[in-house]
Amino acid sequence: MRIDLHTHSTASDGTDSPAELVAAAARAGLDAVAITDHDTTAGWAAATAALPPGLRLVRGAELSCVSSDGRGGQCTVHLLAYLFDPDAEAVVRMHARSRDERRARLRRIGERMAGDGLPVDAETLLAELPAEVTVGRPHLAMALVRAGVVSTVDEAFARFLNDRGRYYIPSSRTPVQDAIATVAAAGGVSVLAHTFARRRGPTVTAEIIAELAATGLDGIEIDHPDHDADDRARLRGLACDLELLVTGSSDYHGTNKSIALGQETTRSEMLEAIAARATGAEIVTAGA
Ligand code: AMP
Ligand code: FE
Ligand code: FE
Ligand code: ZN
Repeated sequence: MRIDLHTHSTASDGTDSPAELVAAAARAGLDAVAITDHDTTAGWAAATAALPPGLRLVRGAELSCVSSDGRGGQCTVHLLAYLFDPDAEAVVRMHARSRDERRARLRRIGERMAGDGLPVDAETLLAELPAEVTVGRPHLAMALVRAGVVSTVDEAFARFLNDRGRYYIPSSRTPVQDAIATVAAAGGVSVLAHTFARRRGPTVTAEIIAELAATGLDGIEIDHPDHDADDRARLRGLACDLELLVTGSSDYHGTNKSIALGQETTRSEMLEAIAARATGAEIVTAGA
């Protein structure tokens, strides 16, 4: 069984449409794939409709959250949510608020760039992105690639869009405890994404993970391209102590990153445990 539980489509900052994503997952030899766009379920229907035979689709999302970091500050955390009811009122509200705020933020970042003479037109960029798409810094990075300012999305992040740069504006986020509660109330299962990925910025301490586990967090993502062997070993110890589910996933974003589908995978017992806990939605297969 090859299972990849974290991927992005054009419903957020990936480059494959939901239909292309499931086709690519089948070509990569996956048995199950989760679609986990940032703050939206907009890709679920198209991914389901295009599902190739034999591939199981786990419908999910990756929620942009904020947490205390356990060192007196705050940090961004991403919460993977699986098999929740996409029509639950609190879910719809949380997603809509996040998408609206991300649009306002993209406009502010774009204006700051344009003010410095960079060839970025945020208004045009936003007009070209449908309202149900969750926008993010990768959309500005792709605009810089198209304008020939940089040659890759990675270079755009390294030079302009990283968290330490002049163009960084944090997006306003949901407190992670609230997101865990919202997901649980909608019948879903929550897994903390790339928990120790320091490259992206500050991360939470083990104490915070224990607190989140006590408030209903179901699992942690351990095998992720941004985790080294030491991160994985520490997270495995924590998951064992806290009796958390453990997952592995590529966090595939199409050509926006150089990560392949199925590069990291989840054990089938874990997917079965997620499916057994969830009551908001089911894993879908073609023709079912
Ligand atoms: P945002 O959600 O707007 O804060 O942007 C964060 C997203 O940017 C992440 O979900 C990744 O998809 C992407 N990202 C972050 N750092 C990099 C990087 N160095 N290279 C390429 N993509 C990145
Ligand atoms: Fe992303
Ligand atoms: Fe993430
Ligand atoms: Zn992701």
